Amino acid sequence: MVQFCYMATEANDLLQKILKDNSYSLTKPRQLVCDLLYGRDPQSMRELVSSARGHIDRASLYRTIALFEKLGIVQRIYIGWKYKIELSDIFTHHHHHISCLKCGKIVAITEEDKIEQLIADLTAKHNFTAQNHQLEIRGLCPNCQSTS
Ligand SMILES: [Zn+2]
Ligand SMILES: [Zn+2]
Repeated sequence: MVQFCYMATEANDLLQKILKDNSYSLTKPRQLVCDLLYGRDPQSMRELVSSARGHIDRASLYRTIALFEKLGIVQRIYIGWKYKIELSDIFTHHHHHISCLKCGKIVAITEEDKIEQLIADLTAKHNFTAQNHQLEIRGLCPNCQSTS
């Protein structure tokens, strides 16, 4: 039995607001999917399917994730051609990732003022206003380097 960690109230209010603004209601499966992602490392669809087992079926899990992607509630992080799902930056602090192409380990990078400044400068240089950005670094983690 999986122990669900329930979402903090603010995150929950935000989820409700986004759904409501787009004329969707907060159904049990939607709430559950959000609970599964909240405060956790990015997860693959397979991991999500297995945590949700007995609560939501596979098809409604995929539908819920697709809706959440459309509404900007979750985002994909690509590791090679595979991806993992996490709640989008509006639910967490903006961050980037370094991921391991071999074992799929993902590390969140949070101390990155220089990167943010550089991205802001580049955006301004091209006379754009930035909405969002992703920056992902892919490679081999210390473990996988020593076994390869
Ligand atoms: Zn690795
Ligand atoms: Zn950034």
